Amino acid sequence: MGLFGESDDLKKLNSAVCPLPWISASFNTDASFRVCCNTSHGGLITSQGKKLYLAEVNSLNEIKNSETVVSLKNDMLAGIRSDFCKSCYDVEDSGGMSIRQYYLKKYKNFSSELNKNSHLNVGIKFLDFSLSNNCNLKCRMCTPGASYLLSEDFKKAGFNFDSEYSEKAHVGWKYEGLIEELIKTNSDSLEDILFTGGEPLTNQIHLKVLSQLVAIDVAKKINLTYHSNLMVLPKPIIELWKNFKSVEVHLSLEGHEQYNDYIRHNSRWNKILENLDTLLSHKKAINLWFEIHTVFQAYNVLVIPKFLNYLQRFNPKIPVVPHFIWIDNPSFLSVNSLSLDLKKQAVAEIERFIEDNRAFYQNSKYYEFNLEKIEILKSCLKRIVFEDFKQEQLQFVSYTRKLDSMRNQNVLDVFPELSEVFI
Ligand code: SF4
Repeated sequence: MGLFGESDDLKKLNSAVCPLPWISASFNTDASFRVCCNTSHGGLITSQGKKLYLAEVNSLNEIKNSETVVSLKNDMLAGIRSDFCKSCYDVEDSGGMSIRQYYLKKYKNFSSELNKNSHLNVGIKFLDFSLSNNCNLKCRMCTPGASYLLSEDFKKAGFNFDSEYSEKAHVGWKYEGLIEELIKTNSDSLEDILFTGGEPLTNQIHLKVLSQLVAIDVAKKINLTYHSNLMVLPKPIIELWKNFKSVEVHLSLEGHEQYNDYIRHNSRWNKILENLDTLLSHKKAINLWFEIHTVFQAYNVLVIPKFLNYLQRFNPKIPVVPHFIWIDNPSFLSVNSLSLDLKKQAVAEIERFIEDNRAFYQNSKYYEFNLEKIEILKSCLKRIVFEDFKQEQLQFVSYTRKLDSMRNQNVLDVFPELSEVFI
């Protein structure tokens, strides 16, 4: 019986399978290979217990045949929802749309190709580059592994971090060699590239990748996606983007104005607005999609209604409901670290705001997108656990006070809503 031959088989498979282990190549900021960027454990690809690095791998077949990828594919084909992909399955179980489901929808022909041949060996359709930890910001939910600037802060504050990883991420990337080769040999199959960081818009390797794709004349069939803080918007990048099939910018914001600038340290709200305006002014020359991504966390949860309200001014220019992302790591920044009363208050206020603004979202431009993101926000609310997490709350307070003292800030100047936690 074929893989999708029985409806029970199909159901099992559909609840587990993801295209990414078949069709993508994905890299951590330290230039090691991973399955995807969506796991809470790093998603590392290992062989004999060791990480595989860009500089040490000669061909992509070493990755495709690695123990990690082979066993993950086997699990998925058997309909087993392995712990490796727990972050996706958890989102689905709480009613949200997972990254797995997003990619299943995006590569909808993948399932039928897999149906014909469960040993499918296709070219790379999707490249996922977390291009180093070189970033211009020092966000509170980040680590030196993703922003090198945080290394000094973490050392001063005595926070644990993997300094070997962060040094590798700082210098471990180079374009010449496997990346250049990957692009050349997969230029026929390549459809999508995701650039994250660090801040990809400041990254020189990223510029070389774009230039190569333009030079070999395949840019027009490639979609680019970025996770960017939009504190910079270099002109050469805008010019290169005009050659691509589409450009999707996921702007990382944790709130508006002071809320964002506090959580995303070194951010300047007015600069982001200026770059957003510049970007939108190129909409005729660039096939541009724009959305906001926000970490649903202890700092911002009580101002989410204000943030949603503020964002409504951008309708109809852009979709105005952010894609909210539940934070697992560090666990003390999870909303669960707040007191029971604050959690109840946050849920009640967000639910009330959604109810009061239902008509606005239904009549907004991009209403389908906005309503889908509202559902994701509601799924984050469902993940809040109404118990006391005393230990995490203490860690949240201590972490915040240490960073505040180094940065000459006071959390309560920005988030007086959290006074009960910090008195
Ligand atoms: S199921 Fe989720 S975690 Fe697993 S590979 Fe796909 S996107 Fe990544």
